[in-house]
Amino acid sequence: MAEMRPPPKECLSEVTLREFQDLIRKMYMEKDEARGVDGTFMWLMEEIGELAGALRDGKPEEIAAEFADVLAWLTTIANVVGVDLSEAVLKKYGSGCPGCGRFVCTCDDAGKP
Ligand SMILES: [Zn+2]
Repeated sequence: MAEMRPPPKECLSEVTLREFQDLIRKMYMEKDEARGVDGTFMWLMEEIGELAGALRDGKPEEIAAEFADVLAWLTTIANVVGVDLSEAVLKKYGSGCPGCGRFVCTCDDAGKP
């Protein structure tokens, strides 16, 4: 017999980056800490491979699901090493492009912004 899953008590309709990181922490932190950064990073790489495959020949909903998986595994690693993603993103991109400081990047195309 298949394992029974409890019905979801609530369903999110919107989520901020901070809320998502908290959600992933609640759902997986114990397992993620036990697995550690190295093992978790391998899962992220595997998911990135799956995203590449979906981008190449997946249906739109498959591509979207792979983006969600990659973001979840990236978020998991941030939890394991104690990085606040919302804070990190705001610090790096909250004042515009880290290269040119503008909200619409004007960096030279040859360089990484
Ligand atoms: Zn720029």
